[in-house]
Amino acid sequence: MVVGRTYHVDALAEWVIPVRKALRAPDGRVVAVMTAGLRVGEAGMIFSQQLHDSLDDSVILFRERDRYVQFMSRDNIRPEQYSEMQFSETEIADQRRVFEDSVGLSKPKIMESREAFTFFSRRDGLKYLAAVIYDPHYELWTISESSFAPLHRKFSATLLFYVSGSLLIIGILYLLFRVIDRAERAKRQELLFQARHDDLTGLLNRAGLLDRLKFRLGRGKPFSLVVINIDNFSGINDRFGLEHGDDMLVEFGGRLKRLVYESDDLARLGGDEFVIVTPNTDLPLLTEVCDGLVQNLVETFEVGRLHLQVGVRIGVARFPDDGDAVSELIRSAHLALHEARQSRSTVCVYRSDMETAYLRGLSVEQRLRFGLAARNLHMVYQPQVDERGTMTGLEALVRWQDDELGFVSPAEFIPVAERSGLMIPLGKFVLDTSLEEFSPLLADSPRALDLAINISVIQFCQADFVETVLSALAAHQVAPERLVLEITESLFMDNFQQVLETVCRLRDRGIRIAMDDFGTGYSSLSLLRQLPLDELKIDKSFVDAVVDDEKAANMVRSIVAIADSHKMSLIAEGVEDKAQASALIKLGCFRFQGYHFGRPVALAEIRDGIVLASQD
Ligand code: C2E
Ligand code: MG
Ligand code: MG
Repeated sequence: MVVGRTYHVDALAEWVIPVRKALRAPDGRVVAVMTAGLRVGEAGMIFSQQLHDSLDDSVILFRERDRYVQFMSRDNIRPEQYSEMQFSETEIADQRRVFEDSVGLSKPKIMESREAFTFFSRRDGLKYLAAVIYDPHYELWTISESSFAPLHRKFSATLLFYVSGSLLIIGILYLLFRVIDRAERAKRQELLFQARHDDLTGLLNRAGLLDRLKFRLGRGKPFSLVVINIDNFSGINDRFGLEHGDDMLVEFGGRLKRLVYESDDLARLGGDEFVIVTPNTDLPLLTEVCDGLVQNLVETFEVGRLHLQVGVRIGVARFPDDGDAVSELIRSAHLALHEARQSRSTVCVYRSDMETAYLRGLSVEQRLRFGLAARNLHMVYQPQVDERGTMTGLEALVRWQDDELGFVSPAEFIPVAERSGLMIPLGKFVLDTSLEEFSPLLADSPRALDLAINISVIQFCQADFVETVLSALAAHQVAPERLVLEITESLFMDNFQQVLETVCRLRDRGIRIAMDDFGTGYSSLSLLRQLPLDELKIDKSFVDAVVDDEKAANMVRSIVAIADSHKMSLIAEGVEDKAQASALIKLGCFRFQGYHFGRPVALAEIRDGIVLASQD
């Protein structure tokens, strides 16, 4: 069978590809020819321009023998054009070169192989991907070509689509993350602020202050730590309630904020304690600033409808002199504050001796607690005599010999006991022990004797103080008339009314009240006018100077006059020699206590003296 050139069959009005087959007799002669045609325009058929996809690709059948195109599936090509299309010799030669170079085989080999080959070709400046197969029987080449340009275009468009899509998604994600990050950062900032600031006042809190202090320490420049404490703040809470207490703290913090400089840090360390950190370390200037603070802070605060006034105390420590670590500086400032409380002053700047005093105070407190429990304390008694040297009474004085600290003076440990809550048990021990020891002596003595006992402010302000004294007297069978309670002026500084009531109740029962260390306080005269007292004890400082110092002698004269006019008995304490006693007698004081007449000793010694004297 042979394939002929495409031609137009007029009768059919159709372009066809003719195929013919010769029918031969057994001897080989052609006896007939069978012919048929393939319509190339028929819709739905293979030769109906449907093999190509677009303008950019084509499928061609062309004949090797005469280089005519038999069929072409390509846009804009009609069947009549096939028969006219013939590749030139040079075109064929060019194609052949490209073809052989790309495939790597010679044209005859390719024609023999009956395989399809693909290769790249270039025509009219465009690049094509081509596939070729040769059918030797019909001498037909089938060539398909696809242009690269649309592939590139499609690829680029797809790539562009995905890239821009990805960019868009990345952009959206980026914006989303930025929003989240910003919110997160704001939240973190807020948490950080909360962690470093006090809820109530909005000032720095302890953690915030520590941060600032560490920063300042790192910088190494000198600065001062000013700790401000409100006096008896719990009183405000107790009287007006926690809410008003809180409001008061807010007002206090607000006022402080207005008083400090930009360069200062202001914090609330907790409770009623505020801290200013300031670059000012000049001592006179610092004291002046602190005094100014106190003046401002004691002015009335308006808290709701309340008008509140508070007292403040300030302790100051300076970097680097008073500590080069945060905790050390805070501790030093607290020691200074402690000292301010002790000395009843408002502003105190740290000194190194405060440290020693504080540590000593701590160990005294610790050992005293132990000593009281172990009953390591005892009483001694110092005689009180009249102008003839006859004993009229005894003052009970407590003594403490500690295993570790040795002898500790009551002048040192009584204030410690008052601070640490030990004064109540200590006072009870003194009252009980001295009455217990004094009672048998009183029974044996031929004359009536008085027992003077020192009473601390703390004891005196106990609600059941009168009952405690009366029951101790009853328990040891000592008449109230024999007991003298020695108190000091500091007792009246805080709540005069309550003290006055207690004094009156005690005196109603026959117990006498003596004012110890008289003349050293501030309020003596105005106090005496209102207070019913029985005895004044002229302080040792006047006695010391009475012989040589006219002023001291005048002072004693005045005290004698006061005692006379108020009908109070008088006794001078700390009389160490005869000259002092004589001078005092001349001035009008006839009772004495002091080393000249007898040191404080155990009661047994005094008892022996009395018993021996009565036997004489
Ligand atoms: P005070 O009540 O004024 O006691 C007098 C102090 O002067 C005693 O010191 C006593 O030993 C001392 N003294 C007496 N005569 C002389 C003298 O001629 N020369 C010198 N240099 N000193 C003399 P003490 O026993 O060391 O007591 C000191 C303070 O401690 C007492 O002063 C008193 O305020 C307090 N105290 C002592 N015992 C007690 C106590 O049992 N209870 C309370 N609450 N306080 C006490
Ligand atoms: Mg005394
Ligand atoms: Mg005294």
